[in-house]
Amino acid sequence: MSTARILIVGGGIAGVATARELACRGARDVLLLERDAALGTRATGRNAAILRSVMAEPAVRRASVAGSRFLRAPPPGFSPVPLVDPCGLLMVAGTTGRAELERWRAALAGELELRDLAPSAIRALAPHWRGAAEIGLFAPDEGRLHVPAILAAFERHARSGGVRFALGARVSRLRVEGARVTGVELADGSTLAAERVVLAAGAWSSALARAAGSPIELVAKRRHLAVTLPSARVDPRWPVVWSLDDEFYVRVDGHGLVACVCDQAIVPPDTDEIDPAVVARIAARLAELVPGGGGSVELARAWCGLRTFAADGDFVLGPDPMLAGLVWVGGLGGHGITASVAVARLAADWILDEHCDDELAVAFLPERLVRASGGAR
Ligand SMILES: Cc1cc2nc3c(=O)[nH]c(=O)nc-3n(C[C@H](O)[C@H](O)[C@H](O)COP(=O)(O)OP(=O)(O)OC[C@H]3O[C@@H](n4cnc5c(N)ncnc54)[C@H](O)[C@@H]3O)c2cc1C
Repeated sequence: MSTARILIVGGGIAGVATARELACRGARDVLLLERDAALGTRATGRNAAILRSVMAEPAVRRASVAGSRFLRAPPPGFSPVPLVDPCGLLMVAGTTGRAELERWRAALAGELELRDLAPSAIRALAPHWRGAAEIGLFAPDEGRLHVPAILAAFERHARSGGVRFALGARVSRLRVEGARVTGVELADGSTLAAERVVLAAGAWSSALARAAGSPIELVAKRRHLAVTLPSARVDPRWPVVWSLDDEFYVRVDGHGLVACVCDQAIVPPDTDEIDPAVVARIAARLAELVPGGGGSVELARAWCGLRTFAADGDFVLGPDPMLAGLVWVGGLGGHGITASVAVARLAADWILDEHCDDELAVAFLPERLVRASGGAR
């Protein structure tokens, strides 16, 4: 049997950011296992790449604000290219979302530059936006993320700190002795022993944990995105626009527009198929936005990915309540890239037994989910 002190299961942003954080803290003998032939091909490679910390959930917002700060101004030498394009994020609302926007603005006071925009200023800043927009909240420092560069930087720093990566290594089950996770079994039949197993397998974490006897459950929600063919009428400087009333967002991608209708069907984790009805809804909304589109657009491509959630929508970071030796880094929902650095810091605290009673660390503890369900599975 091979061994590693710390095994990380999953090579998406959660696993790779955690690997880098462990390396930065001098952890030795860390091995990351990814079943695919490359890192970051699941949720991490299929998201909308928006840097957004203007949101409702207080704990996730705090983690996102901290994560955004890092990505906007990483330490020297962290990445050869910028990780963020600060094209701005414009949250718009008609009558129904107004109160919500006002609450978010109050919660973010002093944390993030935010400007109130009147309808005329919204039209000037985002001429492509034609939905309801009686009030706008503009975050000039937020915008688009360069996800491949973020992932590559995490990987590079993890490797240079000694973390080993095994690709094409599918974990078939967690090994349990007594009430302790002592390693993993791989699909090829080999086993690996470890002091700590870190569960960063995104939508697939829940099934692995459940089979080992953990009470923690996460659900996978499918979300679609589509991008138009490039058009000279699309201005690459337009901000990301997010409409609260419509549950719709759109951002520029080169000279194309990427959009989402915020669909969230609960699906089994291996669901890869696109729902054509959702793509048709996105196309219809885009047709209203592309200037001179004449009521229709041609999509260059559409895809879907899985966002993984705990029942209360907060992240799931820390020790499993039933299984010693197992640490969760999951439930990152729709904010895993933005919050990645903050997530990895909290995760590493638990993995290395350096945890504190910080409010955020406590808010994300997996055991809250058992308490909330009255201890029942
Ligand atoms: C459509 C969409 C839009 C989004 N938009 C944004 C956005 O704009 N901004 C933002 O910050 N976030 C966004 N997100 C959220 C973000 O993408 C996720 O929170 C984040 O990628 C989750 O990372 P992860 O590492 O937990 O999961 P994943 O990226 O899914 O990684 C899990 C990894 O574990 C591996 N794995 C699974 N099972 C096993 C096994 N048994 N053995 C070995 N490896 C295994 C998988 O192959 C995978 O590589 C969006 C997500 C989606 C789907």
